[in-house]
Amino acid sequence: VAKAAGKGTVRVFEERMRGEVVRRLELASDLEYAVDRGELWLAYQPLVTVADGHVTGVEALLRWDHPRLGRIGPNEFIPVAEETGAIVSIGRWVLEQACAQVQDWNERRAGAPLDLAVNVAGRQLAEASFVDDVGAALSESGLDVQRLILELTERVEPEALGVAAETLRALEALDVRLAIDDFGAGYAGLSYLRQLRPNVLKIDAGVLRAAAEITGNDERELLKGIVALAESLHLRTVAEGVEQSADLDRLRDLDCDLAQGDFFAYPQEAAQLEPMVLGEEGLPRESTLATTASG
Ligand code: C2E
Ligand code: MG
Ligand code: MG
Ligand code: MG
Repeated sequence: VAKAAGKGTVRVFEERMRGEVVRRLELASDLEYAVDRGELWLAYQPLVTVADGHVTGVEALLRWDHPRLGRIGPNEFIPVAEETGAIVSIGRWVLEQACAQVQDWNERRAGAPLDLAVNVAGRQLAEASFVDDVGAALSESGLDVQRLILELTERVEPEALGVAAETLRALEALDVRLAIDDFGAGYAGLSYLRQLRPNVLKIDAGVLRAAAEITGNDERELLKGIVALAESLHLRTVAEGVEQSADLDRLRDLDCDLAQGDFFAYPQEAAQLEPMVLGEEGLPRESTLATTASG
């Protein structure tokens, strides 16, 4: 009986594996045409000042509405796009779209112009045309280079960055700002910071969650240490995954600069977010902010 059950388990496992491989292959081939077919779109999530809840910018987050498989998140299809190389043309499209959108908002917005954060995959940085692509997206949209922040995930192996060192310096020369994304989740190291010379450190949501949920003191000290490190390197800090007012209180105590997360706003279609970024409508949590800002 045990033997039969074992065989059954293996078969279920094999079938699931086959299913995953088939899905991956399907995504890989469909991704090639996804941009042209209008299946990709960008969600935007606001970046908000910890001190007083002002929107200073947005992060563009890619979404794929597959005609048969439904909505697919970037954590699933970006790795596939990196493997096939489709990320190069997709990434170019993301830059063009996002720069145009934020420039449009900035022209219609009363307050200070918004920053735009765009995620960049290691595979894009390795592309010879990358710096030109960034320049083209800026000049075609009219977005000020000072507004653009390129986010590089810290989950990329540091060796991969060696290839891109020249590209990084060329981006610096353009005056584009760089952010390290997901800091504290992967290969975080001082040599990485030295190589990249980022302007912004984005603290991974997991670091904030651990500080909020784990009863020991170590996790809170880690969060505190990351903010202190960033401060000593004159980097702006952004906390990702802010979900509750206690998170915000903690960040305010640590003097973290900016926050991003569902507590303020989910990533949304541009049209939905427009009232908030154009300042016609306050942040949904403004009243909450006002009551907790006294400390
Ligand atoms: P990321 O750049 O670290 O983006 C933040 C992720 O956290 C987003 O996931 C966002 O939807 C999610 N998030 C926002 N607020 C909260 C919150 O309060 N709690 C929690 N638990 N999560 C929150 P998303 O949109 O699924 O994107 C996943 C990752 O895919 C991104 O992580 C980024 O690394 C990558 N990605 C997204 N768009 C692009 C793109 O255009 N190009 C490239 N190369 N990568 C992208
Ligand atoms: Mg990001
Ligand atoms: Mg992140
Ligand atoms: Mg992430």
